Amino acid sequence: MSNMETTPEELVCSDHHACAGIELLTPRNVPLGGPRAMDVRRTLPQKQRSLIGAWCFLDHYGPDPVGDTGGMRVPRHPHTGLQTVSWLFTGEIEHRDSAGFHAIVRPGEVNLMTAGRGISHSEFSTPETAVLHGAQLWVALPDSARHVLPTFAHHKPEPMGNDQWEVRVFLGSLSVSEGNGADHYSVSPVTTHTELVGAEILMEPGTQLRIALKSHHEHGILLDSGALKVDADELPKDNLAYLPVGYQSITLTAGTKPVRALLIGGEPLHEQILMWWNFVGRTHEEVVKFRQQWQAEIGAEPGDASSKRFGDFPEGEPAALPAPVLPTVRLRPRD
Ligand code: MN
Repeated sequence: MSNMETTPEELVCSDHHACAGIELLTPRNVPLGGPRAMDVRRTLPQKQRSLIGAWCFLDHYGPDPVGDTGGMRVPRHPHTGLQTVSWLFTGEIEHRDSAGFHAIVRPGEVNLMTAGRGISHSEFSTPETAVLHGAQLWVALPDSARHVLPTFAHHKPEPMGNDQWEVRVFLGSLSVSEGNGADHYSVSPVTTHTELVGAEILMEPGTQLRIALKSHHEHGILLDSGALKVDADELPKDNLAYLPVGYQSITLTAGTKPVRALLIGGEPLHEQILMWWNFVGRTHEEVVKFRQQWQAEIGAEPGDASSKRFGDFPEGEPAALPAPVLPTVRLRPRD
């Protein structure tokens, strides 16, 4: 997915001071672009908190009637320094990228694209898709891995649970128990460059689960549907509950409707990153360079595209998205 804001801000993202308990991050609506654009609900980044582990971006969308909105129509656009994590509840998205990968993103299957030094890709909901519903997340790559060659991974996690609950661990590992029952454990084989966890949680009404957490990780829980208590606190729908490092477990309690939630987490990044549009870098100058290279490579502005950072793309695809204008205010790192 591309950040379709017409005047994206340059955002310095770093570890913020931890809060004492659970903190609520409320979503803001962002149109995805196009005449009948579908909206996404963005809970990361925000001024209050820009990173959860290395997770730096969370767009949650749908259920979106594709016939009315046109669904997801995001032509070729670039990324640097991050991984995109696509997770769908309903519908299908066709992914195509400059590293030569072509995939259909399906519910219950994670698709992880590592941009590394640079990649470009397009995302379109398939013609068969009537309802689109899911989440698009980005993970910032640590400095040691942010110049790797672009690549793509796919994994369909085996759900753990029973007829009352299911958990699909798409990144990292997680241990879950129900009441006084035995622990269930699942681990994803997908490579990450910092310690991360990502899972979808489904619960029938009245179910209670204890989720074991790594206490050196921070976590976020996004409620997609139903009513859910995180420990003693009610989590409003579409909100992201933030849990600082130190939690060894949490108890999730489903209300009177079936629950769908996403759990994300990881070790704090401890690096200051700079996010602008679809780029993650470290300095303003670097982001300016990424933008200039992208514009030159798609022919929007003259420049040397002899060694293409963002690769080649198949002929006949819709025109690439040009980069927005950079903000004139130059950001300085904040502590
Ligand atoms: Mn994208």
